[in-house]
Amino acid sequence: MKIELTEILICPGCRGELELEVLEEEAGEVVTGSLHCAACNLSYPICEGVPDLLLPESRSDA
Ligand SMILES: [Zn+2]
Repeated sequence: MKIELTEILICPGCRGELELEVLEEEAGEVVTGSLHCAACNLSYPICEGVPDLLLPESRSDA
């Protein structure tokens, strides 16, 4: 996903801002990393360029 996308992504739990941590980047896109919400103290993984923004407890009914 594009690094700039972080600006429009919000935490699904509290609708707060997410902090991007990049582990692997390629051509301005995040390949591997995570999005962290300081308010919820939750991290959402980014795997192969796809952010997984589902809350752990809502994965079954989302
Ligand atoms: Zn949050």
